Amino acid sequence: MSVSLEASRKFVTVLEKTQYYPPDRMQAYQRRLLQPLLHHARREVPFYATRLDPLFAPDQSIRWEAWNDIPTFTRADAQQAGDALFAKSYPEQMGPFSEGQTSGSTGTPLKFRTTGMAQLMATAASQRIFDWHAVDCSAKMAIIADSRGRYPAPDGAPGRQWNITKPEAPACQLSVTETIENQLEWILKTRPGAVTSYPSIAVALGELAEQRGIALPFHTFVGQGEVFSDAAKTYLAGTHGLKLIDRYGASELGAIAAQCPAGSLHHQFCEAGLMEVLDFDDGKSITDGRGRLILTPFYNYAMPLIRYENQDQVELTSQACICGRTLPSIQQILGRERNVFTYADGSRSWPSMLEGEYQPFLPSRQIQGIQKSLRDVEIRFVRDEASSQQVDQPGLQTYLRTRLHPSITIDIFETPEIPRSASGKYEQWITLVR
Ligand SMILES: [Zn+2]
Repeated sequence: MSVSLEASRKFVTVLEKTQYYPPDRMQAYQRRLLQPLLHHARREVPFYATRLDPLFAPDQSIRWEAWNDIPTFTRADAQQAGDALFAKSYPEQMGPFSEGQTSGSTGTPLKFRTTGMAQLMATAASQRIFDWHAVDCSAKMAIIADSRGRYPAPDGAPGRQWNITKPEAPACQLSVTETIENQLEWILKTRPGAVTSYPSIAVALGELAEQRGIALPFHTFVGQGEVFSDAAKTYLAGTHGLKLIDRYGASELGAIAAQCPAGSLHHQFCEAGLMEVLDFDDGKSITDGRGRLILTPFYNYAMPLIRYENQDQVELTSQACICGRTLPSIQQILGRERNVFTYADGSRSWPSMLEGEYQPFLPSRQIQGIQKSLRDVEIRFVRDEASSQQVDQPGLQTYLRTRLHPSITIDIFETPEIPRSASGKYEQWITLVR
């Protein structure tokens, strides 16, 4: 057995226990991981040379009560910092570093470094998700992801080891920027048991399969990289009978949370990093309700991210989960700020709808909604030539007032195409309101 496989399995065994730690024990566990990271960052990473000063007492012990005095920073700040975020050196036991870059779906990609240890944690976190959901680890996994075009149709490429329980299980991968038609052909040819991709890709594959009167050949779908809306889950589970797994992470941060197998809540992966949610108005840490997500991964000594704001918004709940795990729960991942609408009365929501909902009002194949002001929403649509439906502006406006907010007014525009981002993500709703 390879060293990394064995080490990841050990991590998984630890995670089986820590998921039931009471809150004070988990806090102590997290601080034991944070403390050496903070010392390291202050000493070896120019970005943190003075930034962490409020945390350090004269005897160099950590003043945890000053944690909130450490400023948060965003991806744009990280881009500006550039190499100043890289450690000049770090302990050998953290493993070799590797480099990557974020998908850049909502801006310029961020170049990042991570450590071998952070990757072991990510592998263990993935296995935890598969174990929670009793995924068949001997099945073939097809990964349709942002590959910078490296795995083109019609064949794609063999994938890497996708789980550590059955490391010999086959995998294959295809670039997500292939057309949906090519993706479906490839899936029909490779016949995986499970598929990992963006939720909007699974919905598009499901709709195309339905049009062709065929069944999707896989039984499990692992959604990542986009918010997995309730509408998409209802469609994929109801119409296609898929087993769904909703996981949440980011390339520069690793695993953050995943849906509990016992219900709709997500559990935070407290063993991988410190997750804070800050109130929109006063910036104080909350345990219930909606706020800005702030993350501090524990194992990335090559590029420490301490109080990093990835610009996602989440809704926490302090209610206990029926599964008995004590990992804190997330009610809802709302997604990027640019996908969350804010209305005239100050309320916010992440619009979540399926293409089929517009069909009584628009001859559309695809739509996108752009919020231009608190009350004005522009609906762009790609015409479905086979549809005889007329554009019904008043009907759609009435419908969207019930689904989004009663104060909105809509304008409708036809467009030849709604492109996905360079990384293949599809943003159905974008707000320009700040
Ligand atoms: Zn649970």
